[in-house]
Amino acid sequence: MVGSNGILEQVTTNGNGTKTFHWKTRYPMAYYLIAFCVSDYMEYNIYAKPTQLQGDSILIQNFIYNDTNCLSHYKNDIDKSVDLMELFCDKFGLYPFYQEKYGNCLTEKGGGMEHQTMSNMGGFSFDLNAHEMAHQWFGDNITCATWSDLWINEGFASYAEIIATEFLVSPAAAQTKVKQFQLSSFNNYVSVYVIPEYIYYGNEVILFSGGVYYKGACLLHQLRYLVDNDDTFFGFLQHYTDTFRGKTATGAQFRDAMEDYTGLDLHPFFEQWYYGKGHWYYGKGHPTYSIACEQNANGQAHFTITQTTSNSATPFFNLPLEVKVNYANAQGDSTFRVPITSNTSYFDIQLPYQISSIEIDPNSWIIHQEGEITLGLDKLQNDLDLVVGPNPAHNYLQVSFKTTYTPMTIDIFDISGRLVQSHRLYQSGQHIDISHLPNAYYLVKATQGPATVSKKIVKI
Ligand SMILES: [Zn+2]
Repeated sequence: MVGSNGILEQVTTNGNGTKTFHWKTRYPMAYYLIAFCVSDYMEYNIYAKPTQLQGDSILIQNFIYNDTNCLSHYKNDIDKSVDLMELFCDKFGLYPFYQEKYGNCLTEKGGGMEHQTMSNMGGFSFDLNAHEMAHQWFGDNITCATWSDLWINEGFASYAEIIATEFLVSPAAAQTKVKQFQLSSFNNYVSVYVIPEYIYYGNEVILFSGGVYYKGACLLHQLRYLVDNDDTFFGFLQHYTDTFRGKTATGAQFRDAMEDYTGLDLHPFFEQWYYGKGHWYYGKGHPTYSIACEQNANGQAHFTITQTTSNSATPFFNLPLEVKVNYANAQGDSTFRVPITSNTSYFDIQLPYQISSIEIDPNSWIIHQEGEITLGLDKLQNDLDLVVGPNPAHNYLQVSFKTTYTPMTIDIFDISGRLVQSHRLYQSGQHIDISHLPNAYYLVKATQGPATVSKKIVKI
């Protein structure tokens, strides 16, 4: 039997022991996607029902070896094609060649090749199946305009493996895969855009490398993060697969289309992440983030976030950063998105509890390395030079602070938050009589102008 592009229109018997298989496609096709496979095949057909077809179905036609063991070996994996097809139609738009079919020809070659409407498959692993099927939208329907823009094919098909895992396996499994892709992005030979000087016969290993596939997939993940709305992100992908239907695209055209659709200025993103200054060495570029946090007793937290980069060619990556804080005493956690506008960024936020630990990019959105995370409570106190003591205290508290013309207000709260004493101090070093207060913990809140510092003391 022979498997090929389009629809099998007829099989003629030639009378000399041979047969002729007539395949015909009516869709435009890039020349490198034309193929046929000949083997002792059997046909195994399944059907996907994407919502757009309202009950109608898409044929998924599989040519596997004519051996019952072969079907039983691959059946479960092949059957997942139905879920994959329905998912991709939902996320990327209706399968571009739905009037013909999607198909697979099993071959002895490892890996896969996304021939239009009939991929060659060395097996049917989940990732491979997702990757080659996604190429029908990204690679076949829209083909990279030049080899430099191979990302248009391979970055997208690789990201489809993440999408498939996220929606058909679990978000946690997808995050694990994203982290693997991010890790492999640290040591790429090329930036995601491959400069024309590196494209020549014999240098294919550089072109078809992790920079284009894995870092390329991570870039789409980062764009999704930047858009920060899945309806918009996938809505754009559907718009893109529709407007570039049957055409070629460059990375720049994709960028411009996404800018038009989302209203975002993506030029800095593409300069920093996609082109990487156009030299292979700069393909390694990524940021390293460090965080220093001080939090006062009222929960007000002050973050200093510093960014260094792995290569001076890209001294700054201006993606926002997600920061997760875990609260002390098992009081849960919060995640917030911090704008990163320069190599040192400051961010203040009022939090309900004291922070016990901090995580950088907890949802694994960004290719990055982690620097130092420091969590201190004392810097604000130092700023006011506030010393309240002794602690433990007996009959009095002495309050020292940096003397200015602004008076210091001292409020003392009991453990239930009730104000038990209030004082206005005009000079440092004064004593506050607390001899009448019961022995207990107290919160001493010092306010001087806009600055507030709180300290817990115990009276014994
Ligand atoms: Zn591929």
